[in-house]
Amino acid sequence: MSLSKPIVNPAIKFTQIFINNEWVNSVSGKTFPTINPTTGKKICDIQEGDKADVDNAVLAAKAAFKVGSPWRSMDAYDRGRLLNKLADLIERDVVYIASLETLDNGKPFKDSMGTDMNLVMETIRHYAGWADKLCGKTIPVRGNFFCYTKHEPIGACGQIIPWNFPLLMMAWKIGPALACGNTVVLKPAEQTPLTALYVCSLIKEAGFPSGVVNVVPGYGPTAGAAITSHPDIRKVAFTGSAEVGKIVMVGAAESNLKPVTLELGGKSPVIVCKDADLDEVVELAHNAIFFNMGQVCTAGSRTFVHEDVYDEFVKRATARAKSRKVGSPWDDATESGPQVSEEQFDKILELIESGKKEGAKLECGGARLGNEGYFIQPTVFSNVTDNMRIAKEEIFGPVQQIIKFKDIEEVIERANDTTYGLAAACFTKDLDSALAISSRFEAGTVWVNCFNVFKMNAPFGGFKMSGIGRELGEYGLHAYTEVKNVIVKTPYKLP
Ligand code: NAP
Ligand code: MG
Repeated sequence: MSLSKPIVNPAIKFTQIFINNEWVNSVSGKTFPTINPTTGKKICDIQEGDKADVDNAVLAAKAAFKVGSPWRSMDAYDRGRLLNKLADLIERDVVYIASLETLDNGKPFKDSMGTDMNLVMETIRHYAGWADKLCGKTIPVRGNFFCYTKHEPIGACGQIIPWNFPLLMMAWKIGPALACGNTVVLKPAEQTPLTALYVCSLIKEAGFPSGVVNVVPGYGPTAGAAITSHPDIRKVAFTGSAEVGKIVMVGAAESNLKPVTLELGGKSPVIVCKDADLDEVVELAHNAIFFNMGQVCTAGSRTFVHEDVYDEFVKRATARAKSRKVGSPWDDATESGPQVSEEQFDKILELIESGKKEGAKLECGGARLGNEGYFIQPTVFSNVTDNMRIAKEEIFGPVQQIIKFKDIEEVIERANDTTYGLAAACFTKDLDSALAISSRFEAGTVWVNCFNVFKMNAPFGGFKMSGIGRELGEYGLHAYTEVKNVIVKTPYKLP
């Protein structure tokens, strides 16, 4: 996609709750502000959904799922057409939507446009294609029976998403849910509700029947918890922190044992072998951590470098971090914008302080940048050891930890010695090493000589505490269907 000019002051068109294809105010009358992280100033107030609003959204989603409703009666092929129509409408308005994303989230416009929006459209189109390909099986059981399976939608699905890739996370969630014929109650992150709300207007324009998609902006402990524990929501999908992931699972279990899919955090290792091409790897390892201001669940936040090339790597990685262009997200040359919120900004600075105190060597950065908005200098730590907080906790910020290793067997163990297991990468020219390391990594995604490569038709998800289930591709459909087994007695004799 060619890079168009952004709309620096996109008009805010939708700030209400979207239920039954209509815009409504919150039952409580409350609102909350959404902030522009580039300036730290309020963009606008948003209607604040809570339990009563979630209840209304669930009533709409249940009604839309009733047998005989327009959505339940629709051919699978036509569900696919609606999803394709939605992707086309997003493409029509893509410059506006990408601009809105940058305003609300702070990510560089060229990333909103070039990375996020392309993946949004690809994901929705990918799932549009699946709508009429959800095939069951016929099973040759013993006896005179015809046995077949059907993959049926589950019902009203709850979906709770984070702020780091706001619209992309919505696409990852609604794409498979709608392709399979479910209905949805989605809560966007409180920090970044604007693109999800705009896209609701496109969902209506595309012609989705009322109640199929309902979006309730609000806070996690109120609106989020109401979704998680709602007795009539039949499945919940969540992306965010492991801490909240546990709360979601408890709420789901205690209410109605609804199935849960979780995409949680990570502390992903990047192993740089001594034979790796340093020029190439320094750049890839840099982007592995600094892309999206470090606010990526797969961020390569533990860079293990072989001792033979360690000093040279640190030197070059530091030079690269110092040259990273941090500034206005509207500027074409900008590589990083601000962190998403003051809370994240404070959390990152606190972890940077812990790195200094625990004895890591600060090579560059380590502080706030400028005096407006939530900008942090690209930060590099060397001499990091495995027990430091910066080597264990998810920082979710622009902070690279460079850790030395000697022996490849030993470093794989250290790489796996974390409660997380989302992604892992190795850089080497030796194919045997690459394959051996890949097979030992405990991670849902392994990258060899590359990083942060996401494809809408390849599965994504975590081992261990990085999550439960997979999103994207064919694997992503499993979470949104129930398998029904039908057994029909078949007379052997002709009548
Ligand atoms: P978070 O609290 O896990 O938020 C993710 C989503 O869950 C938001 O929509 C949030 O609502 C909602 N939520 C919060 N408490 C909830 C509850 N009790 N019940 C149901 N939903 C609830 O993440 P965060 O506070 O935004 O970020 C904290 C850390 O999480 C980050 O520093 C990072 O380490 C990690 N994180 C990971 C990912 C990822 O992609 N895996 C994404 C974002 C953050 P609100 O609108 O109130 O926030
Ligand atoms: Mg915001």
